[in-house]
Amino acid sequence: MAEETLFSKIIRKEIPADIVYQDELVTAFNDINPRAPHHVLIVPNMVIATVNDVTEADEAALGRMITVAATLAKQRGIDEDGYRLIINCNRHGGQEVYHIHMHLLGGKPLGPMLS
Ligand code: 5GP
Repeated sequence: MAEETLFSKIIRKEIPADIVYQDELVTAFNDINPRAPHHVLIVPNMVIATVNDVTEADEAALGRMITVAATLAKQRGIDEDGYRLIINCNRHGGQEVYHIHMHLLGGKPLGPMLS
């Protein structure tokens, strides 16, 4: 069983966060340090530490993360201009919180991905 992080406490509403969506599989909340006008983190409710740890059993939650990202982008009117979805993995990927999360970034031109 993977170790819990502060994201589990956010999911259980034990610590405050600006939760914008929650269902039985995933939770989405605004990033505390937004890097764009829209910066939402979408996480599976179950702890999965990194992309290296995913299994077929996680596919429903991982698929839901993308569906929720697309729905939030549409609701916020950033779907046509576009946005970026990022999942960082481990040190070289820049992962800081070891509970898989997808960043939804949008609301301004984000430039080339690699710079
Ligand atoms: P990573 O670098 O692991 O891909 O991204 C972790 C993200 O979690 C960062 O963008 C950081 O700002 C965000 N974050 C860290 N702690 C908290 C917190 O307590 N609340 C919220 N809402 N976001 C957090």
